[in-house]
Amino acid sequence: MTAKPSSLMQTYARSDLAFERGEGAYLFTGDGRRFLDFASGIAVTALGHSHPHLVKALTDQAQKLWHTSNLYQVPGQVKLADRLTAATFADQVFFANSGVEAIECGLKLIRKYQDDFGDPKRYRVIGFEGAFHGRTLSTLAAAGNEKYLKGYAPVVDGFDHCAFNNLNEVRAKVGPETAAILIEPVQGEGGMRAADVEFLQGLRKVCDEFGLLLMFDEVQSGVGRTGKFLAHEWAGVTPDIAAIAKGIGGGFPLGACLATNKVAAAYGPGAHGTTFGGNPLAMAVGNAVLDVILDGNLLEHVNKVSAHLDGRIDDLLGRFPKAFESKRGKGLMRGIKCTAGIVNTDLVESLRGVGLLTVGAGDNTIRLLPPLIVTHAEIDSAIDMLAAVAAQAKAA
Ligand SMILES: *Cc1c(COP(=O)(O)O)cnc(C)c1O
Repeated sequence: MTAKPSSLMQTYARSDLAFERGEGAYLFTGDGRRFLDFASGIAVTALGHSHPHLVKALTDQAQKLWHTSNLYQVPGQVKLADRLTAATFADQVFFANSGVEAIECGLKLIRKYQDDFGDPKRYRVIGFEGAFHGRTLSTLAAAGNEKYLKGYAPVVDGFDHCAFNNLNEVRAKVGPETAAILIEPVQGEGGMRAADVEFLQGLRKVCDEFGLLLMFDEVQSGVGRTGKFLAHEWAGVTPDIAAIAKGIGGGFPLGACLATNKVAAAYGPGAHGTTFGGNPLAMAVGNAVLDVILDGNLLEHVNKVSAHLDGRIDDLLGRFPKAFESKRGKGLMRGIKCTAGIVNTDLVESLRGVGLLTVGAGDNTIRLLPPLIVTHAEIDSAIDMLAAVAAQAKAA
């Protein structure tokens, strides 16, 4: 009488919820229950669900052409790369399918750049405690999180780690083999911690002083999530390389590695590649996302609703000090750290019970990642549900 084992690999601790459709900031189950989506598929559905402009871009492209490979010209890639470079520090773009591939492209570029134009002895990358860069062997090594590395020895060589926001430690760690520094301007999985502006500026100085490259992982923080197109713009610091993904595809798998001409010059034909990356479907959607975020002035809206969310979270912290300890993050990439007696994942579950979707993060934090098109009224509704759950929450 034992149940048939699932044919899915059991890599996820999934909730029982299954959704049938989505509209704007809401998801609906097959039996008609409605949920306010402040998870956005982990910061992916930047324009909410079923955005008419994205649906049209994808379905129009689907009638014409899906895939040709990078053996040929893909006009949508040139268009999207031109727009991304116009909007950022970067001069050149490589398209991938996911966050981790965008990071891997940058990590390889670091080694290739130092080998070709820098100092071939330099291959090591400094990462930070609390970081998350994806789940391949190299990106697990880059983040150095013991929990995710356990069981996957040997760890890929070439990564050192420092405490987040500690410039002295970074200076002490730089050696003759150090090639680059890799950091999320706002840590996501690690607890929604924003890097200090002075820290990011200090990292740029260290890189310039020692001939290192500065790479930002903006897979979660990029594409308008914090109110700037890329989060590092708040610090007025430019990197040499940055990875974006999540929001740029609005729900279609798409990642991109951005770099300056100086660094990207190390990548010639054959140096790196992908079969699916930058295919016409992904490019149609990526360009449509930028139509709304850049051409449609969505960042102005993000900054307005972020200020509202910020104020409402402050209220919440004041009202429920027994449940909530502090707020974290930036813009619409917000964390609320729970008090020691409360388990964040229990609260995430209770919130689902009252109709609000959120995500847990490290350091006992709840992540609020509403779509960038979220309204004041939707934020108020989410705050009401957070308050209802906080009022019931019992410290263990
Ligand atoms: C999600 C994430 C990644 C990995 O992206 P995948 O698409 O899951 O491979 C890397 N870095 C950061 C900061 C992320 O949030």
